[in-house]
Amino acid sequence: MRTVAFGSLAAFGVAGIVALAPLSAQSPSGTVDSHVAAARTAAGQDHIGLFNRLCQPEPARPAASAATAPTAAPPRPPGPPAKATWEADAVKVFDNLYFVGEKEYSAWAVATSDGIIILDTIFEYSVDSQIVGGLKKLGLDPSTIKYALVSHGHRDHSGGAQYLQDSFKTRVMLSAADWDMLEKNTRDPSKPKRDLVVTDGQVLTLGGQQLTFYITPGHTMGTVSTLVPVFDRGTRHVAAAWGGTAFNFPHSKERFQIYIDSARRFSDIAVKAGADVLIANHTIFDGSKTKLPAMATRKPGDPHPYVIGTDSVRRYLKVAEECAVAAMMRLP
Ligand SMILES: [Zn+2]
Repeated sequence: MRTVAFGSLAAFGVAGIVALAPLSAQSPSGTVDSHVAAARTAAGQDHIGLFNRLCQPEPARPAASAATAPTAAPPRPPGPPAKATWEADAVKVFDNLYFVGEKEYSAWAVATSDGIIILDTIFEYSVDSQIVGGLKKLGLDPSTIKYALVSHGHRDHSGGAQYLQDSFKTRVMLSAADWDMLEKNTRDPSKPKRDLVVTDGQVLTLGGQQLTFYITPGHTMGTVSTLVPVFDRGTRHVAAAWGGTAFNFPHSKERFQIYIDSARRFSDIAVKAGADVLIANHTIFDGSKTKLPAMATRKPGDPHPYVIGTDSVRRYLKVAEECAVAAMMRLP
């Protein structure tokens, strides 16, 4: 096994010059409704899950109290949720890309001739069952997990990273901003030890495969989005992974503008790269709830459910952008 020392960061090159999109100074034109309508049009039939999640106005949150919330669900017992609520089958999706996530949260494995790269590590309670167990079921060796890219420092993606560090000496990668955010977080039961820092445009090369990372702030201030070449029965495609999707951040016009600018920029990058596959880190967003089962019954010559075409990848990011514009315009 090749020793991966910190010096191997030389293995990263900068993929050309990536210009930062200028921040839009002026307020967006149109109305909330016109931007929701633009998002609905962009969603078409294929991205309706994303549209429904992002474009609905957030419900008012009533102040919770025992007296006013008699129908509130009983509190969940301490400890991890029952396995039956999150366990999912591992699935080979491309020649070199495997789903090793849970029912709701995705983790992906890129298999190369020199080891495995994991994209998002799910929770500390599910990483062993789903990522380690899933790789074994698929005939892959988890001891060869060389890198784990954590798209952003929220527990549903970072919780399993420390386990990979401890078990397999996996090198864990986050942006500087999200390493900082994780370090300040005292709630999560498991956090990776600070390791490799992802920078914008970085290329990770392993076993002849190259993943490219982009810092796309918005969902968190250091969210990383990724381009991954994938192969379907030998035919090359490019998968785009939008690293953070929901608007569960402190709401301000400035923050939404950052999200919007990142969505526009990553859309341009993905389209220029010819990305024709979209993978998400929540199964609700990329259609994985139907596409993963569909992989099992795919016949020779059938289209690949994840190969959606570059225009559909563009429309996906347009939904994120337009729903963010609408949400920003709803702010007082
Ligand atoms: Zn998140």
